[in-house]
Amino acid sequence: MPRGLYLQRTARESLANGRLPRVHSQCIWGGYGRGDLCSLCGEPIHATEVEFEVPEPEDGPGTGLKFHITCYAAWQLECGDEGPGPAGGT
Ligand SMILES: [Zn+2]
Repeated sequence: MPRGLYLQRTARESLANGRLPRVHSQCIWGGYGRGDLCSLCGEPIHATEVEFEVPEPEDGPGTGLKFHITCYAAWQLECGDEGPGPAGGT
């Protein structure tokens, strides 16, 4: 299975079972990884890779979320997959 599809499915499952919050994150930090585990795929984010850090929503455990770029993108894509999109556009 292509990795993108795997990540997309994992993101969807994580949202469904509450492992990841359904939020459109606005405040993120980017930086190089420090070997912390990715909140989506569970693999370490190495120092050669960019890490995206997202603060937990207020009702979360307060640890924050960390993602690879690709995992962050898959998560945000799934977050926007439900409900009406933003008004306007085409
Ligand atoms: Zn990841």
